[in-house]
Amino acid sequence: MKEHFFGEKCGIFGVYGEGLEASRLTYFGLFALQHRGQESSGIASSDGKRINVFKDMGLVSHVYNEKALKSLPGHMAVGHNRYSTSKSSSIEHAQPVTGNHKFLHKLMSSFKDKYALVLAHNGNLPSTTKLEKFFDDRKIKTEEFNDSELMAEAIRYYMLKGAKLEDALVESYPLFTGVFSLLIMTKDKIAAVRDKCGIRPFSLGKLDGGYVFSSETCALDTVNAYYVKDVAPGEMVIADKDGLYCYQIENGDQKLDIFEFVYFARPDSILLGKRVSEVRRNFGRRLAREHHIEGDVIVPVPDSATYAAEGYSEMSGIPLRHGLIKNRYIHRTFIQPGQRLRERDVELKLNPIPEVLSGKRVVVIDDSIVRGTTSQRIVNMLRGKGASEVYILISSPPYRFPDWYGIDTPYQRRLIAATRNNEEIREFIGADYLGYLSYQGLIDATGLPETVFSTSCFSGIYPIDIGEKTGEIEFRELVRFS
Ligand code: AMP
Repeated sequence: MKEHFFGEKCGIFGVYGEGLEASRLTYFGLFALQHRGQESSGIASSDGKRINVFKDMGLVSHVYNEKALKSLPGHMAVGHNRYSTSKSSSIEHAQPVTGNHKFLHKLMSSFKDKYALVLAHNGNLPSTTKLEKFFDDRKIKTEEFNDSELMAEAIRYYMLKGAKLEDALVESYPLFTGVFSLLIMTKDKIAAVRDKCGIRPFSLGKLDGGYVFSSETCALDTVNAYYVKDVAPGEMVIADKDGLYCYQIENGDQKLDIFEFVYFARPDSILLGKRVSEVRRNFGRRLAREHHIEGDVIVPVPDSATYAAEGYSEMSGIPLRHGLIKNRYIHRTFIQPGQRLRERDVELKLNPIPEVLSGKRVVVIDDSIVRGTTSQRIVNMLRGKGASEVYILISSPPYRFPDWYGIDTPYQRRLIAATRNNEEIREFIGADYLGYLSYQGLIDATGLPETVFSTSCFSGIYPIDIGEKTGEIEFRELVRFS
């Protein structure tokens, strides 16, 4: 089930600005980034003297109320939405992390010691060997810490030695072996840092003389901030009372995860200068050039494939109809449905419309096939409503390689395209036709060079060393960019 397979793809947001109600703005920012994480949410704020933290399980709209926001005063704040159930679904994993100030209950905490810091992380460190060794060598116990907490502790270690936040970050940065868009807040500063490949998105905006950091530009729009630039790969940006300070810690080599364009990012965000919705439309246009289908109707799988379906329809001339309606209010919550309902998760989410489907040759467009279960159920569902033929077109190439960069689809065996060829997958899902967008088609449709992307889930090429995880890749031979 999705609940036990997909890992974390988080959203982070931060505000620094004299006179701004930072936690309220962060709340709205997190609201706009809800799609990046639905398990838990947290905000830490500071008024220059004290850091306050509030975090809990659930959606942004459930976690905060007026009282919670009032308990987060100050002109600085950082927030985090978490998406993960690959580890136990509990408040312990909620962020921002507070390092050795650990609280295991619904969290409303407050600290004002000199070295207080909080950290919000989007990404994942596939290997923490370097960090663990660093602490082992210094006889510091960190067994209970996850990757994000280890990073926070390394920064604090250097601050305890007397370094300023920015120097502590430069010192500890070489220990961060993996993928990170990070926001770190002390009582009087916010630092934003991005790994050298900039695998996860991260943007900087300006608002009323203050600064806003966000995983995606859509949240800058929500708070009416204007986009200034991306936090560059390998760069550190500090916001404090003296303004903004940018420092290139390491030479960057931009490799944005192309799956942000395929699925994760909101369509109204801009990544690498391109509107995500427009790129998705291009995926659909290219798909139409690569797969000519005699269909009667195009049906998108909402919402992620809507734009690709529009592009396909435009190029092919086949009309687009919304034959699958998504319940907008279905979110993963910490109330797990019982087994019978869980098996019906696709039906809970999508309702097929017989009038659109009955007697028709239906071309279904979806963004990706990961394990194949969703497509299989959709095909069954459409046949059940009388579709005469069901063709499945996917607006990305076969998803063959596991991710340790923050999406965390770690078990390659469960990726259907890792072990089966296209014909076997078609048979498994029960479609009359299955077509994927080619790898070259995907790249071309972005309008950007291949070199600016990490394409690891499709190509098996990991631009940031995955360390000991390399041994977990069992299947390479099926790779063909068909
Ligand atoms: P499945 O093939 O059943 O594993 O599900 C694939 C569907 O899940 C696709 O249609 C995507 O829209 C969606 N999807 C792809 N990647 C992820 C992810 N990392 N987290 C949640 N949903 C995803």
